[in-house]
Amino acid sequence: MPTTEAPAATSAAYADLCALLREAGTIDSIARLCSWDQETDMPPKAAAFRAEELALLSRLGHERLTSPRLGDLLAECEADANLTADAAVAANLREIRRDYDKATRLPADLVAEIAETASRAMEVWKEARSASDFALFRPWLEKSFGLARRKAECLGAPAGGVLYDALLDEYEPGVTSADVERVFGPLREALTPLIAEIASAPTRPSRAPDEVKVDRAAQVELNKHAAAALGFDFSAGRLAVSTHPFSEGLAPGDTRMTTRYFDDRFTDSLAATLHETGHSLYEQGLPKAEFPGQPLGRYISLGVHESQSRLWENQVGRSRPFWEWMAPIVKDRLGPGLARFGVDDFYGCVNVVEPTFIRVEADEATYHLHVMMRFDLERLLIAGDLAVADVPGWWNARIKADLGLSVPDDARGCLQDIHWSMGAIGYFATYSLGSLLAAQMWETAQRAIPGVEAGFARGRFAPLLDWLREHIHRHGRRFTSAQLTERLTGAPLSHEPLMRYLESKLRPLYGL
Ligand code: ZN
Repeated sequence: MPTTEAPAATSAAYADLCALLREAGTIDSIARLCSWDQETDMPPKAAAFRAEELALLSRLGHERLTSPRLGDLLAECEADANLTADAAVAANLREIRRDYDKATRLPADLVAEIAETASRAMEVWKEARSASDFALFRPWLEKSFGLARRKAECLGAPAGGVLYDALLDEYEPGVTSADVERVFGPLREALTPLIAEIASAPTRPSRAPDEVKVDRAAQVELNKHAAAALGFDFSAGRLAVSTHPFSEGLAPGDTRMTTRYFDDRFTDSLAATLHETGHSLYEQGLPKAEFPGQPLGRYISLGVHESQSRLWENQVGRSRPFWEWMAPIVKDRLGPGLARFGVDDFYGCVNVVEPTFIRVEADEATYHLHVMMRFDLERLLIAGDLAVADVPGWWNARIKADLGLSVPDDARGCLQDIHWSMGAIGYFATYSLGSLLAAQMWETAQRAIPGVEAGFARGRFAPLLDWLREHIHRHGRRFTSAQLTERLTGAPLSHEPLMRYLESKLRPLYGL
């Protein structure tokens, strides 16, 4: 969809600046392709050289983005009143400045070391996780957090913030840990009693449909069917398989995503696919071809990205109307084992709330306790208030306190997430921020689009996608996440819409 307010203003310097960004964006998309391959199809013996490839690409991209020429062109554009009078160009320049100032604070050798460490640490993490061997991963975790701390020191804490905020800002620009606390605090207070009530509820939905074994090839087709129905363009994207589902916007016209399959638990694969489809719809809706390598062609933040995935996974994919549409399709495509189930069985199955060790398997309510503990743990490690060696003990005590579970091994404890091996420290909070934003925009969407939810029962998803494209996707990084939230929903981010959504769905299901 074209941007309706495409920039009209230009100049020779602006054209040169855009050409430089296009080149840096191209290097970045090659690096993303290498990472995609590493995660999906790379043979294990290629890992060492892949780390070198990624380090080189990361260095080349960093050199472009920090070049004095880019700085000169940017300054020239910022001084050009013709350019800055154009709101779209002004937003682009604001974001280019932000990126440039951050990138120039990081030494090239640190950037390359982070990229190479991430690539190597990920291979060790895979081994450590499958053997549940924390000692194997520990030196790499120490290295990852050490590099993150150096990076944070180079970037500098924002005014009034702590060192950790420099890392958070990489994923959620302009948001500090104090901002996160302001919504996480009341969310935790509201969630904890609801989870406790559910634990002793008089009735509970059953997982029976997920106990039926179903053919994998049929599941693959079902997942593709669902992604296409939501609006995923398979001529500009792929759906592959990986242990941890993810999606990656590689380039204009190239958005890749993965899901995973089990012999049973077909709803797990479907939920993962709907989630990644949400991310991918955002990527496919960004005006990347129009603004290659420029902020106006990119997503706002990981929180906003996650709002798109959560919206399609939860508000859409765990709604009753969605299952009115999906139940007959599932029964038709996945075989006779599921024939005895009705809409309410499937709807109940995807809305079971039960504490689990694994974050990515957690339900919509307990999920946020997993996120909050990682947010707290990262801040302790970056502040130097906890040693890496003490992570398993801290982790297990917190899971016991929050969820009442005894962690049996580190694979199901502190080794479960890929993030720290990738050097993605400061990332986790965005998962819950995204869920909060999804719930808040869903309330707005329901008011703005008559019959939007009822339409899901007839497989009508386009009105919601069109609305997201119009209000979010086509703008790229024109607005910050706080601006977008206010503009779209008329209020700052709050825990209340998510709680209203959870209460109104879960209370009837659990007879509360
Ligand atoms: Zn996601």
